[in-house]
Amino acid sequence: MKSEKRKKVVKTIRIDVDKCNGCRACEVICSALHAKPKYSSNNPARSRIRVTRDPLSNLYLPVYAGDYTAAECAGRDRYVIDGKEYGECAFCRASCPSREAFKEPDSDLPLKCDLCESDPTIEVPMCVQWCLAEALTFEVREEEVEEEPKPEDVDAGLTALADRHGWDKVADALRRLAKDGGS
Ligand code: SF4
Ligand code: SF4
Repeated sequence: MKSEKRKKVVKTIRIDVDKCNGCRACEVICSALHAKPKYSSNNPARSRIRVTRDPLSNLYLPVYAGDYTAAECAGRDRYVIDGKEYGECAFCRASCPSREAFKEPDSDLPLKCDLCESDPTIEVPMCVQWCLAEALTFEVREEEVEEEPKPEDVDAGLTALADRHGWDKVADALRRLAKDGGS
């Protein structure tokens, strides 16, 4: 079966570090949203967005929590961008054994940004709504992706054919096609 093209909705949050002023409102609201019950408390250590702050260097860098990794990475880098020096791990989104960021403080369980998955749905992520400096911009776009048919799709297709023509005919056709394809 050929791969198919389909539209995929991609949601991202664009970060403009030049606009961030380090107010940490994004951390506060994210941790409040994920408190149990919702909004019952706030603790930036529980936030899925963390802001590196160095006011003396006018350096503020919001980073979203990504996937958990069980192992520390082998290489660390220091970046200098526009004269500002960003420390090791500054841009890393991983919840990793070598640092405290992106871990639930009580349980140490990894945290990951879920784009405010919630019921009822939150259309614009809370950290974006609370960022009065407009350093965070929510973007939704469509991308065309090639997708291999999943095994369950193939099973469903064959079952539908068998319902119409019977399994014997479907099996005969498959044998014939496999033979033609292999010759
Ligand atoms: S709310 Fe906006 S300006 Fe404040 S720390 Fe977060 S990203 Fe920066
Ligand atoms: S998008 Fe939602 S879950 Fe992700 S960091 Fe912002 S407030 Fe937290």
